[in-house]
Amino acid sequence: MTEIYLDANATTAVLPAAIDAAARAMKECFGNPSSSHATGIRAKTLMSQVRQRAARLLGAGDGRLMFNSGATEGIQTAVLSALCALRERQSAGQRIGKFLLYGATEHKAVPESLMHWNRLLGLNLELKKLPVDQDGQHDLEALRLLAGDAALVCTMAANNETGVISELAQIEAILQQSGSDAYWLVDCVQALGKMQLDLAATRIDYATFSGHKLYAPKGVGMLYVRPGAPFTPLIMGGGQESGQRSGTENMAGIAALGAVLGALEDGVTFRSHQQLHGFRARLIASLRLAFPDIVFNQPLEKTLPTTLNFSVPGLASKELLDLFDAAQLRVSSGSACSAAKSAPSYVLDAMQLPLWRSSSAIRMSFGPLADDAFISAACARIEHCGLAWRQGAAAAPSAAADPVVRFNLDGANAWLVADDASRSCVIIDPSALLAPRLTAYVRNHGYQLRAILSTKALPMQDSARCELARALGSDAGPGAGNDAFGWPAPGSSELRLGERKFLCKRQGEHQAYLLGSAGEEPFAPHFAFIGELPAAAIESTLIEPDTLLCPARDETGRLCTSLRAEQNPAHEESASGMHLEAAALAQFLAAHPGALLVDVREAYEHAAGMTSAPGQTVLHVPLSRLASHLSLWLRGAPVPLVFFCRSGNRSDKAVACLRRLGYRNAWHVSGGLALGNPVLRLDYPKAA
Ligand code: PLP
Repeated sequence: MTEIYLDANATTAVLPAAIDAAARAMKECFGNPSSSHATGIRAKTLMSQVRQRAARLLGAGDGRLMFNSGATEGIQTAVLSALCALRERQSAGQRIGKFLLYGATEHKAVPESLMHWNRLLGLNLELKKLPVDQDGQHDLEALRLLAGDAALVCTMAANNETGVISELAQIEAILQQSGSDAYWLVDCVQALGKMQLDLAATRIDYATFSGHKLYAPKGVGMLYVRPGAPFTPLIMGGGQESGQRSGTENMAGIAALGAVLGALEDGVTFRSHQQLHGFRARLIASLRLAFPDIVFNQPLEKTLPTTLNFSVPGLASKELLDLFDAAQLRVSSGSACSAAKSAPSYVLDAMQLPLWRSSSAIRMSFGPLADDAFISAACARIEHCGLAWRQGAAAAPSAAADPVVRFNLDGANAWLVADDASRSCVIIDPSALLAPRLTAYVRNHGYQLRAILSTKALPMQDSARCELARALGSDAGPGAGNDAFGWPAPGSSELRLGERKFLCKRQGEHQAYLLGSAGEEPFAPHFAFIGELPAAAIESTLIEPDTLLCPARDETGRLCTSLRAEQNPAHEESASGMHLEAAALAQFLAAHPGALLVDVREAYEHAAGMTSAPGQTVLHVPLSRLASHLSLWLRGAPVPLVFFCRSGNRSDKAVACLRRLGYRNAWHVSGGLALGNPVLRLDYPKAA
């Protein structure tokens, strides 16, 4: 199964012609363009050819195009230049605006640079976000009000997360009409090769470009400066780039960028806008097939045809990323995503999308080099992922061994306890967002829902409980003889579920649920569902030192805890030294013949792409089912366990949890499957 790379807005592979051009620049045209001999002259000529080509393509006119390391440097230089000029004007007693105005969805490089240089230069202007509307486009009314007071305006040409295209002509008109003398920086990184630019025909003062977003290597970019726009070099030294950007030029990068610009000019290497729109429509159709509830987080008619941003109700971006990655389909989360709780995307937040969409967004982006065969393969892989998700949701290890399943979304845990013999289950602390997932799970397994328990008293109209009960036709919802906690047997503190039983224990405002074997005397709970009660607040007479405490929130990925773990911080320290480098795994297994490999990836990831370890026993214990196994491992003989997952993130958490709980014989494979491993092999279903 080959990799399908759909993360072009992050970076692209390098165009073969660009690799050739870079290699030629290093082998044959390796001169220093500042040298006066023939070798140097050849390099200088190459550089000026690339510059001329760029100027033609971008309509730079008499403006200056200088080479640099990329857009972050270009943004620094533009901001420094504008702010130095503003400071001079201020010292000369001239009026300057009071705002450094930037679009709310700009790349972080813009506000960070503004903040940095504003402070360093002692200007003390006010950084002000220009809001965007629900489509992600700049709020032009707000701009009209602010433009007269703006000293510098920064507005990107197209957004990297959503592909939303800015209305640059309208922005320019407003700046014009308001008589603003603000400088204007436009970050054109995502526009290069995807939008027509005619810079000299605009009043844009600075425009930034980055090679690696369009098939050139990383570390090369360009900055456009309008004739007459102020300029202050960021880097001083040997006077290269007419003294405006010192340092010997990155000739391999410039040559490669030249080849990409050549491909843009030839009109055949890259697909037309119309073709790209057609490609995106096909991807959308496959995504809708795979995930019927999908919602797109961008107005498709106002975006680059190469970018999609979407959310799927009930699926965290981390889960979608894991699913896609298991099928070798590379996408990115629309937001910076930490393990258990994804940080919402500030871009989608600025568009005022609901939190669940901004925190579960996925970005899928491709470049104009994509062709029909690539898009067909991508569509097939997306549909394969949809199928894998459904198969994974239906796959169930026996509840006899795995009675407790954790559902986690954005740091909130819901717990499901199942009994295979009676085909029934109990859900604890469901959230409204998880309700569709829980419903599908209960339906897929044909369980009868016995109770929907909450660790806090809830109003009758609590949406998660109502929705679950309604969707499953169960009388476990509010009312129907259940109390405000969902406890179905008011008057009794015991609820039987096959061979197991729950006891409910009131602690102040909270109600904890203890789960153990019904026949065990005295009752020794294996699990305690404690909601948001701090572990230390649980009455120790109710539970055992090793009873697994299962919380309703888990932002930091601690999974479960126990009284023993809480009372023994030394176990926390023992988590160091648990990492095994990929190369050391074979040696470790040879030295520990009884060791077991434990794959903590979820069932849908297995359905999307399989792993084998010839000659080794591999246990599949998805992180969502770890609690059940923790309980067994803690009670059994301490076999060496080596955990792995896709990136090493989840296995790291599993092992840290085990060690905290006092099980020291646990390790994990650093970097996971992503780094490749001589022991663990990736195999894929043929159909994928
Ligand atoms: N601006 C935008 C819109 C981007 O997407 C990026 C890259 O992610 C940058 C700026 C920074 O570019 P570079 O990687 O060349 O520094």
